[in-house]
Amino acid sequence: MDISVVIPLLNEEESLPELAQWIKKVMDQNNFSYEILFIDDGSSDNSWKVIEDLGKENSNIKGIRFQRNYGKSAALNVGFEATQGNVVITMDADLQDSPDEIPELYKMIKEEGYDLVSGWKKVRYDSKWAKNIPSKFFNWTTRKISKIKLHDFNCGLKAYHSDVVKTIEVYGEMHRYIPVIAKWAGFLRIGEKVVIHQKRKYGTTKFGWNRFINGYLDLISIMFVSKFGKKPMHFFGVGGTLSFFIGFVITIWLIIQKLINMAYNIPYYRQVTDQPLFYLALLAMIIGVQLFLTGFLGEMISRNSPERNKYIIRAKNNF
Ligand code: UDP
Ligand code: MG
Repeated sequence: MDISVVIPLLNEEESLPELAQWIKKVMDQNNFSYEILFIDDGSSDNSWKVIEDLGKENSNIKGIRFQRNYGKSAALNVGFEATQGNVVITMDADLQDSPDEIPELYKMIKEEGYDLVSGWKKVRYDSKWAKNIPSKFFNWTTRKISKIKLHDFNCGLKAYHSDVVKTIEVYGEMHRYIPVIAKWAGFLRIGEKVVIHQKRKYGTTKFGWNRFINGYLDLISIMFVSKFGKKPMHFFGVGGTLSFFIGFVITIWLIIQKLINMAYNIPYYRQVTDQPLFYLALLAMIIGVQLFLTGFLGEMISRNSPERNKYIIRAKNNF
C-alpha cells in the first residue's frame, strides 16, 4: 500500500464526508493505493456514524473509535500502529489542511528521501491573538531548543516514512513535538513544505489557552527523558553536587566568621543558625532539588508503565 492517511477527530461530523471525498479524488487521480484511518477520539456527535457510513461505500475508509476523549496524541499513536502504507500522512479533520498536498508530500518522502516532512502554514487563517502570535513564540522556542529548522512544528499536516511512525511514541500533548521526538529517535532527514491553510469550515477549535502550558511541560519532559532518561545521574549528579557544595561553603564561611570573631574577641551578635542567609540557602536548594526530582521520577514512572498506551477501543470498522 502506498499511503495511509491518519485523521484524528473530535466532533467533526460535518467535515468528514467532504474530506473523505476529497482525499479519494486525489488518490484516484494519482493512482495511489491507500487507506484512510479515521480515529474518533470520543466524539459526542454523529462522527462515528458518519465514519461507518463512509466505510460502507469505500472499504479503504477505516475507523477506530475511542471509548472517551484521550486527546490528539493518543489518537495519532493508535492510528500510527494501525497503518499499513509505506508513507503515512496525518491531517486534521476540519478541512483546514488540503488533501491536494498529498502527492507532493508523498514524493518528498518516497523520492527525495525525507523521513518526515512537516507542513508549514505560511499564511494562517486563525485568530491572530489566540493562535498566530503565541504559535510564533512556541515555534521559536522549540526551534532553539531542538535545533530543528522548522517554522511550524504543530502543523497537523505531515508526512512520514512508515519506519518513523512505527518507531516513535506520542502521548500526552506531544503531537506538537513529533519532529523533535523523531529527531531524537534518529530520524534526521526532516523537511518542510509550505502548505495551504484554510479557515475552519465547520465546528470550532478544540484547543484552548491551556495548550501552551501543557505544551511546554511536554517539551520539558521530552527533553529530559531523551537527554537524561538513561543517565539521570549525569543531570542530578551535577546539580546535586553543586548545590551541596554551595550550601557547604556558605555554612563553613559562616562558622569561620564566627571563629574569627571569637578568636579576636570581636563581639558578634548572631549565632550561625540565627542568620536568614543560612536558612534561605538551605531552603531554596532543598525545595528546588525536591520539586525537580519529583517531576522527573513521575515522568520515569509513567514512561515505564505498561499501561501508558492502553486506550479502550470501543469499535473498529473495516479492519
Ligand atoms: N482533535 C482530536 N482530539 C482532541 C482535540 C482535537 O482528535 O482532543 C482533532 C480535531 O478534531 C482536529 C485536529 O485534532 O481534527 C486539530 O484540532 P483543531 O482543528 O481543533 O485545532 P486547531 O486547528 O484549532 O489548532
Ligand atoms: Mg483546526
